[in-house]
Amino acid sequence: MIVRVDKILSELGFGSRTEIKRYVKAGKVRINENPVKKPEEKINTEIDRLYFDGKDVVIEEFETYVLYKPAGYICATCDNVHKTVMELIDSNRKNIVPVGRLDLDTEGLLILTNDGNLNHRLVSPSSHVDKVYYAKFDGVLADDAIEMTANGLDIGDGEVSKPAKLEIVSKNEVLLTIHEGKFHQVKRMIKALGGEVTYLKRTAFGGLGLDDLNLKKGESRKISMEEMRKLI
Ligand code: URA
Repeated sequence: MIVRVDKILSELGFGSRTEIKRYVKAGKVRINENPVKKPEEKINTEIDRLYFDGKDVVIEEFETYVLYKPAGYICATCDNVHKTVMELIDSNRKNIVPVGRLDLDTEGLLILTNDGNLNHRLVSPSSHVDKVYYAKFDGVLADDAIEMTANGLDIGDGEVSKPAKLEIVSKNEVLLTIHEGKFHQVKRMIKALGGEVTYLKRTAFGGLGLDDLNLKKGESRKISMEEMRKLI
């Protein structure tokens, strides 16, 4: 990747662009043996090394995280009212965003990344990446709930869900596998079947199961290569 020094350093959390400009002026930034003279100077991350205050700066183009999202955190990069999932990620990168959304009260597997292509691939219904949800609900589902779900449900506001897989776990629990992410999709699908969701958890994303990640609720870490292969 060829990238401006001030851009990469500010993305990595070394300061604002203005601060980086000051650091460059003060001679704190080096590419290989050469002090950087202008903040807009570019570095080729394949062959050059970047140093800040004499220390090697580790540059990874993309960072992707897995998080076991607890309820009470909002899937946004900032919010005035609620805690955001960004608070649960140990990264200085400023350009990492949640892949799709889980509601404030939904728990489970959330992916975060600064890789725009990956993000698009994971959320686009045409990519058919499965997301599995475990739901508890009040009420009684239609007798033919499985077939109705497989055929697509009228979920209100003129929207119809794409064919999805419903598995009955018990009288008040189901697993629902979908590959799209409309607003409140699972809650609206269960409602269309006669139930009211009382608890919702995403248990898998692509081939990646939450249980296999060994994450406690609220924990996150960088995804491994093997997990990335399972995800996509
Ligand atoms: N569907 C919902 O209704 N809520 C979520 O958080 C995720 C999927």
